[in-house]
Amino acid sequence: MDRYRSRSFWFDELPGGLTPRDSLHGPIDVDVAIVGAGYTGLWTAYYLAKADPHVRIAVVEKAIAGFGASGRNGGWVSPAFSVSTARVARTHGRDAALALQRAMLATVGEVGRVAEAEGIDAHFAKGGYVCVSTSAVQTDRLRRYVEEQHAWGIDAQDYVWLDAAEAATRIRVAGCRGAAYTPTYACVQPARLARGLADVVSGQGVSIYERTPALDVRAGLVPTPAGRVRAEVVVRATEAYTSELPGRRRAMMPIYSYMIATAPLPASFWDEVGWRHREVVNDGRRLIVYAQRTADDRIAIGGTRAPYHFGSRIEDRFDRDERIFAALEVELHCLFPMLGETPITHRWGGPLGATRDWHAAVQFDRRTGLAWAGGYVGDGVATANLAGRTLADLILQCDSELVGLPWVGHDSRPWEPEPLRWLAAEAVERLLGHVDGAESRRAGPPRWIPVVDRLQEVLGW
Ligand SMILES: Cc1cc2nc3c(=O)[nH]c(=O)nc-3n(C[C@H](O)[C@H](O)[C@H](O)COP(=O)(O)OP(=O)(O)OC[C@H]3O[C@@H](n4cnc5c(N)ncnc54)[C@H](O)[C@@H]3O)c2cc1C
Repeated sequence: MDRYRSRSFWFDELPGGLTPRDSLHGPIDVDVAIVGAGYTGLWTAYYLAKADPHVRIAVVEKAIAGFGASGRNGGWVSPAFSVSTARVARTHGRDAALALQRAMLATVGEVGRVAEAEGIDAHFAKGGYVCVSTSAVQTDRLRRYVEEQHAWGIDAQDYVWLDAAEAATRIRVAGCRGAAYTPTYACVQPARLARGLADVVSGQGVSIYERTPALDVRAGLVPTPAGRVRAEVVVRATEAYTSELPGRRRAMMPIYSYMIATAPLPASFWDEVGWRHREVVNDGRRLIVYAQRTADDRIAIGGTRAPYHFGSRIEDRFDRDERIFAALEVELHCLFPMLGETPITHRWGGPLGATRDWHAAVQFDRRTGLAWAGGYVGDGVATANLAGRTLADLILQCDSELVGLPWVGHDSRPWEPEPLRWLAAEAVERLLGHVDGAESRRAGPPRWIPVVDRLQEVLGW
């Protein structure tokens, strides 16, 4: 099924066929209906079925499991939450922020644990995270960031500053002036995780209906072209695509991110570069690039720009942006000039979701039975697992530590109507690009950069 294989390198790498599961044919009644078979929907189904095999669960997916961001992302299993610990503390208090931070750190291991326990060959590797500085300003910012992590209770050995020589023992990046390093991150082949999870969930007795679009998400009811699903609990797990549902255009902003992947690289390249533990790697800019070494020895790299399309539109043609692909190639060669003429074999993109205050959330209204989770921005691989466990506990009325975490019940106001939404997104992207340029040219920060830092912190960008 080329339509799906071409969505990302990760889909193309999947072993076996990509034949869609059956669509829904006629009305059904279940206990829990989940709309969206990405990580959020699938993890919710997984933990619900695990906790109570008698709950009747149906997942309704408009394409195939993993079709959205879950099958296209950078594969960073990151303990980072969509907003900083400092910001969560300002809204919910220090203890609550620390509890969320602890839960996120534990979630990285939980993803690997389940993958192993359930036999999902998702290429999970807990190699840590290297954030490379290529300018004096980035070094200053990253060193402060490491100190902040310690102030938030992260063990000194779990977040360290590496000077240029120490950083080179992990990965050799051109122009590296040092790096922040933590062993707490992992990487994964994202589509293998999503598709493997869908198989496990099917094996648990959950019905997954693919190529079945939900026309709406209402209390007790999910209408589809093939008939309605009636359920006591309805979970919306549609992330960026939420903006396509009736009445929800301003709930979530779909922002695009793009990636490219090289052909497999020879042993001589890796001898020179290192990168032995499949650490996830990015740089200290504001419009970052993010990368992983794949299990078959490619570099998959994404980022630079993050465009938004007027009216929160999501269209197939937006999955490709030749200018951003070209910019990514330039970035790749700047970081690794020894790549030479190595071919780029894959180019793809997809939408991720951001709420108005950039704050991810889990919600469940017991009165209506409506639940949702999302708004992870670029940190959804691990967070969606925490969301799935939390939603399962909320739905099953399990009074766990998870249901007391501060993102549960968090409310974000809607995005502004157009054209304000588009203007704001454009302005932010341009400003950050401009600041990145200024920061790379100077030895020290221009006077106005602390103002941008503060704005970013307050708004959560
Ligand atoms: C290029 C890219 C790189 C990224 N890199 C990283 C990374 O390295 N690390 C990280 O943590 N996060 C990353 N992210 C974000 C991360 O992938 C997402 O936050 C996460 O996958 C969200 O999972 P989800 O299940 O909530 O949403 P999705 O995976 O988008 O799933 C939503 C599903 O709902 C389905 N759907 C939508 N509307 C309907 C409807 N009406 N009816 C039925 N089904 C519907 C869609 O088809 C889709 O399958 C990246 C995202 C992108 C796009």
